[in-house]
Amino acid sequence: MTYIRTVLGDIEPADLGPTYAHEHLVIDGGRPVELYPDFDLSDVDRAVAELAPARDLGLACVVDAMPCSAGRNVRKLVEISRRSGVHVIAPSGLHLAKYYAADLWSERGSVDELAERFRADIEDGIDEHDYLGPVVERTEYLAGVMKIAGSEPSLTPRERRVYEAAASAHRTTGSPILTHCSEGLGALEQVRLLADHGVDPRHVTLSHTDKVIDRGYHREILATGAFVEYDQGFRWKAGVDNGTLTLLAWLFEDGYGDQLMLGMDAARQGYWTTYGGEPGMTFLLGEFAAAMRERGIGDDAQAALFVRNPARAYAFAPVAVTAG
Ligand SMILES: [Zn+2]
Repeated sequence: MTYIRTVLGDIEPADLGPTYAHEHLVIDGGRPVELYPDFDLSDVDRAVAELAPARDLGLACVVDAMPCSAGRNVRKLVEISRRSGVHVIAPSGLHLAKYYAADLWSERGSVDELAERFRADIEDGIDEHDYLGPVVERTEYLAGVMKIAGSEPSLTPRERRVYEAAASAHRTTGSPILTHCSEGLGALEQVRLLADHGVDPRHVTLSHTDKVIDRGYHREILATGAFVEYDQGFRWKAGVDNGTLTLLAWLFEDGYGDQLMLGMDAARQGYWTTYGGEPGMTFLLGEFAAAMRERGIGDDAQAALFVRNPARAYAFAPVAVTAG
C-alpha cells in the first residue's frame, strides 16, 4: 500500500486534497537569507495567516521545497501544519551549491554519505539542528520528498553526486523526488540521470520548467513519464501572454494532463500578503483558477492539476523488501 508522508504522519493518497506542489513556508535563516534577505520566511504566525484564506479556497496540502541545511526548520513546519490545518510535506535533499559553505557535509560527502542522510530524514526523523550542528538529534518528524537542484546548462559534478544520492535513497525508501531546473532548463538530463540510477520517472517532478515556453521541450519531458510543476503563473507581466497558461492549454491538448502540477514557489516576503507583498498564497486557487477557466481549463482539468496528479506524484513508490 502506498502513502504520502506528511510531517504529521502518513496519509492515503486519496485523502490528500488540493495541493501546491512546490512552495516555501519556512526559510529560517542560513545562506539563502544571507544572500537574499527577502527570503527570510521564519515567522510562523505569518505563515499560518497566509495559509488561512488559501485554505478557505480549498488548499489542503503544501509541499515545502527548502531542503537540508539551507533554512529548513521541521519544528516550524509542524507548527504551521497543526495551526493551519493544512498538510505539509517536508523535504530532505540539497539545494544549489551557492546555498552552502564549501566545507559543509553537503559539499564534501560521498554519494553513500549523502544518501544515508536523506534516508534517515525520511525513515528516522529530521535532525533538530538541520545537519548544521556538531551533533545530530533526530525529531519524530519525517521528510516526505527529496528536493534536489540542478543548474543550467547542465549538471555540475557536485550536482550529479547529489542526484545519485537521491536516486539511492529513493531505491531504499520509495520517496518521491522534486527537482529544481535553473531557468527551466536541464529537465531531460535530470530525469535521464535519475532513471539511469533506478528511479522510475513517475516518481520525479521537475520544477520551474514553465520558464521555457517551448511545446516540443515539454512534450519531450512528459514523454519520459515524469511530472512537471509550473510556478511562473503570477510572474508574467501585464500585457504579455501568460506563458504558463499557454503551456497548460497546449499540454492538456497533447494528452499530458495527468502529469502537470502547479505551485507558486513563493520564496520571498514580497510574494506574501502578510508581509505586505503580492499576490499572496490565494493566487493559484483564486485568480489563476479563474484565468484557467477562461482558457478552457475547467473543473476536471483543475482537479487533475491540484488533486489527482499530486496524489500520484507525491505517493511513495513500493520498495522491494530484501529477505533477511
Ligand atoms: Zn523553490
